[in-house]
Amino acid sequence: MDAEAAAAAAATAVEERERLRRSFASGRTRPAAWREAQLRGLLRMAAEREDDICAALHADLAKPLTECYVHEISLVISSCKFALKNLKKWMKPRKVPGGLLTFPSAASVAAEPLGVVLVISAWNYPFLLAIDPVVGAFAAGNAVALKPSEVAPATSLLLADLLPRYVDPSCVRVVQGGIPETTALLELQWDKIFYTGNSRVGRIVMSYAANHLTPVVLELGGKCPVVVDSDVNLHVAAKRIAAGKWGCNSGQACVSPDYVVTTKSFAPKLLESLKRVLFEFYGEEPLRSPDLSRVVNSNHFNRLMALMDDYSVSGNVAFGGQIDERRLRIAPTLLLDVPLDSAMMKEEIFGPLLPIITVDKIGESFAVINSMPKPLAAYLFSNDGQLKQQFERTVSAGGIMFNDTGIHLTNPNLPFGGVGESGMGAYHGAFSFDAFSHRKAVLDRSFLGEARARYPPYTPAKLAIL
Ligand code: NAD
Repeated sequence: MDAEAAAAAAATAVEERERLRRSFASGRTRPAAWREAQLRGLLRMAAEREDDICAALHADLAKPLTECYVHEISLVISSCKFALKNLKKWMKPRKVPGGLLTFPSAASVAAEPLGVVLVISAWNYPFLLAIDPVVGAFAAGNAVALKPSEVAPATSLLLADLLPRYVDPSCVRVVQGGIPETTALLELQWDKIFYTGNSRVGRIVMSYAANHLTPVVLELGGKCPVVVDSDVNLHVAAKRIAAGKWGCNSGQACVSPDYVVTTKSFAPKLLESLKRVLFEFYGEEPLRSPDLSRVVNSNHFNRLMALMDDYSVSGNVAFGGQIDERRLRIAPTLLLDVPLDSAMMKEEIFGPLLPIITVDKIGESFAVINSMPKPLAAYLFSNDGQLKQQFERTVSAGGIMFNDTGIHLTNPNLPFGGVGESGMGAYHGAFSFDAFSHRKAVLDRSFLGEARARYPPYTPAKLAIL
C-alpha cells in the first residue's frame, strides 16, 4: 500500500468515526425505542436476506447450507430475540443497599453506553462474528464501526450493502479492507474495541488500544482439547466430536476440537468409531461431499499442508489425508500419537486435521492440556463424576463442556470468551450488553444525615464520636 492509499484509509477512518461520534453525541442511541428498532432491523435482515447471506458464505467458504443457517443466521436471530426480550431489564438501574457511611442515601448501578465502539471480526463465521457483537453494542446504546474480515470478501461486501438498509445508517459504518484499513481504524480513539481473531493480531490490537486507554474484548482462539474416557457411549461421543470438528466449517471454528487425548488402550476403539462416523457423514469420497466446507484460501491450505508434511507427523496419518489443492479441500484426517513438540501440537490447527494423543491413564490428560496455553474451550467425554469434577477444577479454559463439543456457545445464559492466551472479556446474552456498557455508580443523598466529625477542624472531641 502506497502512502497515498494509506492517507486515504486514514482519512476514511477519521471521517467515519467522526460521523459516528456526532450521531452518538446527539443522544439518539440512548432510548430503549432506538435500541429495539436496531435489534428488530438486524432480525429482519437475518430473516429476509437468508438467501443472500447463504450465497455469500458459500462463495467465501463453500459452507454447507445447513451450517450457514444453523451456525450463523439462526444464532443471530436468537441473539436479537433474546436481547429484545431482556433489553428493558438489562437497561434498568440496579438498586443496591445504601452504605452506612452514606446514610441516608439511595444507591444504584446504572448501565451507560460506552459511546462509539469498533468491532473487528474474523473470516470463519463472517456473518455471525460481525453481527453478534453489533447486537450487544446496539442493545447497550452505542454507535458502531464494523470492520468485517477481508478474508471473507463476499460476506464483507454484503454486510456493507445490507447493514445501512436495515439499521440506522448514521450509527453503524462498515469499513471494508485489509490490514491497512484496520490499522487506520486502530490508530484512532474508540470507546471500546471488540476484536475476534488470532492472538498474534490480538496483541497488535491491544497495543494500539493502550495508546488511548481503550478497553478491549479479545475473542481469540487456541488449541481446544477433547479428553475421551473409556466409559463413554462411543458412537455418540464420536458423532459429537466429528460434528464439532468437521461439521463446524471443516474445523475452521474457534471452539472446534483441536486434538483428542485418550488412553493407549482405548485409542484403537475411538479411532475405529471416528472412522465409521466419518464414513456415515461424508461417504467414501469426502473431498466431493457437499457437507464439508473448503479451506478458506490457499494461504491457509498451505499452512495446513505444512503441518501435515512436518517429518515428525507425516507417518502418523491414521485415516484420511486426501487433498484437492485446486478446490482447497482436505478430507477429514485423523493422526495418531503426534509428538507434543511438533508444529501440529504447538499451533492452533484450525482445519480438518485431528491428532489423537495417547496417555497411560486418563488422569494424565490434564497435565497434557495444562502444558499448553489456556484454550477457548475444553471438552471431556466421561460418565465418571469424579473425573468430571477433577477436570472442572484442574483445567482452565474459556469454557468447558462435558460429553459434547461446541454447542455450549448457543446458551445465551453462559458467557462466551477466553482466558489467558484465548482472550479476555466475554459476550452473548446479558454478557454482550455488559461488554458494551459502563456500570456507573449512582449515589443519591439527601441533605439530612450530617456528621460533624467529617468536617475540619478535626478536634479530639469529634474523633471520639467516631
Ligand atoms: P482474520 O484474518 O479475518 O483477521 C481478523 C481481523 O483482524 C480482520 O478483520 C483483519 O483485517 C484484522 N487483521 C489481520 N491482521 C491484522 C494486522 N496485522 N493488523 C491489524 N489488523 C489485522 O482472522 P484470523 O485471525 O485468521 O481468525 C482466525 C482466528 O480467530 C483463530 O485463531 C480462531 O480461533 C480465532 N477466532 C476466535 C473466535 C472467538 O469467538 N473467540 C471466533 C472466531 C475465530
